[in-house]
Amino acid sequence: MGQSAGGGLPRHAGMKIALFGAEGKVGTVLAAALAAEGYEVTPVEVGDEVPLAGHDAIVDFTQPDAVAGNVLAAVGQGVPAVVGTTGLQPDQLDQIDAAAKERGVAVFVAPNFAIGAVLMMRFAAAAARFMPRAEIIELHHDTKLDAPSGTAKATAGLIGEGTAIHSVRLPVLVEHQEVLFGAPGQTLSIRHDTMSREAFVPGVLLALARLDTLPPGLTVGLDALLD
Ligand code: NAP
Repeated sequence: MGQSAGGGLPRHAGMKIALFGAEGKVGTVLAAALAAEGYEVTPVEVGDEVPLAGHDAIVDFTQPDAVAGNVLAAVGQGVPAVVGTTGLQPDQLDQIDAAAKERGVAVFVAPNFAIGAVLMMRFAAAAARFMPRAEIIELHHDTKLDAPSGTAKATAGLIGEGTAIHSVRLPVLVEHQEVLFGAPGQTLSIRHDTMSREAFVPGVLLALARLDTLPPGLTVGLDALLD
C-alpha cells in the first residue's frame, strides 16, 4: 500500500495534510494511515497556531463547537477540507458553502466515512419505499458530544423527515445503527456496526484523492464519491 506502481515514491509523497484532532480517537488512526499512504501530516490540536499555507488540504475530526471555525479558516486561506466531525448545523453548512464557493475551493463533509454505513443508508432508503413505518436506533460510545448522530439524521432525511431517532450512549460501544421497519405481521432490521475506527480510513483517503475533482463549495456524503 502507498507505493507507486514503479515501486518508487509513496503515492502521495509531497502532499501536505493538516490533521485537526490528530490526537483524538479517529485522528490517531488517521494520522498513521495518512503517513502510511505517503502524506506529510501536520497534526493540529486545540490552541495550535498552524499556518495552513502550503497544505493541500485539511482533515477535521474534532468536535462540534470547533469544526466550523477550523474549516472557515482553511477555506479563507484557499485550502480545501475533508470533514468528518459531526454536529454542523444547517446555517454553518450554508456559511461554509458560500465561503468555499467565493474562494473557489472544495469542502467535503461526510456524516459517515464507513462504506458499510453508506450501504446501510442506501438499503434503508430502498426498503422505505415498500415499508414506510420505520424508527432509527443509533448507538455510540458515551464520549460522543452530539445526539442524534449525523448518520441518523442523514438516514432520516433519506427515509422520511420526522422518522423517530433513539440515541444510546454506552462506554463499550463504537458506532452502530439499526433501522427497524414494521409492517403488518413483519419487521425488517437493517444494521451496521463499526467495530474499530479503521472503518473510516478508506473513505477519508477516497475523499482526499477526489478533492480536486469536486466543484467549489460544499459536497455532502460519501455517496457522492461512489459509483
Ligand atoms: P475525540 O476522541 O474526542 O477527538 C477529538 C479531538 O479533537 C481531540 O483530540 C480534541 O482535543 C481535538 N480538538 C478539539 N477541538 C479542536 C480544535 N479546535 N482544533 C484542533 N483539535 C481539536 O473524538 P473522535 O471520536 O475522534 O471524533 C471526532 C469527531 O468525528 C466527532 O465529531 C465524531 O462524531 C466524528 N466522527 C465522524 C465519523 C465519520 O465517519 N464522519 C466517524 C467517527 C467520528 P482535546 O481532547 O484536547 O479536546
